[in-house]
Amino acid sequence: MSFVSYHCHSTWSDGKAAIPDMIAGAAAAGLLEFGLSDHFALTPYSDANAHQWSMPRNGRALEDCLAELRCAAVGAPLPVRFGVEADYFPETWPRVKELLAGLGLDYVIASVHYVERFPIDSAARYWEPLSQAEVDRLHRGYWERIRQMAECRLGDIVGHLDLPKKFAFYPGVDLSREVGAALDAIAAAGMTIELNTAGWDKPCAAPYPGPDLLVQARQRGIPVMLNADAHSPGEVTRHYARGAALLRQCGFATMRAFTQRQPRDLPIPP
Ligand SMILES: [Zn+2]
Ligand SMILES: [Zn+2]
Repeated sequence: MSFVSYHCHSTWSDGKAAIPDMIAGAAAAGLLEFGLSDHFALTPYSDANAHQWSMPRNGRALEDCLAELRCAAVGAPLPVRFGVEADYFPETWPRVKELLAGLGLDYVIASVHYVERFPIDSAARYWEPLSQAEVDRLHRGYWERIRQMAECRLGDIVGHLDLPKKFAFYPGVDLSREVGAALDAIAAAGMTIELNTAGWDKPCAAPYPGPDLLVQARQRGIPVMLNADAHSPGEVTRHYARGAALLRQCGFATMRAFTQRQPRDLPIPP
């Protein structure tokens, strides 16, 4: 299979399987390369409980996780890349960027999971009591944070763009100006976006991002890659055939891979 899968979580963050099991799943799926990207969140909010879903866990540091991954990769049946999914917070991004720069990573996925204190992809019950105006405010705030995150170029890859649609609470107002500004910032930063196939398994029943945003990204020359946001070995290539077909329909011919934070392009197989 001529694909990579770089957005993968293990028990070092909120994944359900240990690193060797994830690597075995990637090998069984016939991937070209496997990449681990456990969460790394320096939240400014004490009630975010980041220790439950993000490195460092169990009192061990980010460096310890990467050391274990490097050990697990020795003798692995496919190339293993070393990444992180880093949370963007306006309050902590400079420290995060500085910490990640010294780790010898192959790539950094930069994601927005919070708008102010609101955990946008945590549970539908947080969205259900909101008014449409509050839903609109969260979507608008999300796109503003994506723009800020791109302007500080926190990472190489933008994680699951348009995540606030996850529980099918959509904006009731036109946010094309905010979305366009965020995409312009991503293009200016030279960042890659992912087609994250996990959304097909969520209440929104659509990938992050959907076709409209993919076309807008391609028109701006933003490169793309295909990722599964896998939390178990069986998910490392979920919906990949469907995702590759959608990328081709949206006009993309290549998808990105990374080594030591340097991108290269792979053809999207027919
Ligand atoms: Zn994420
Ligand atoms: Zn993730």
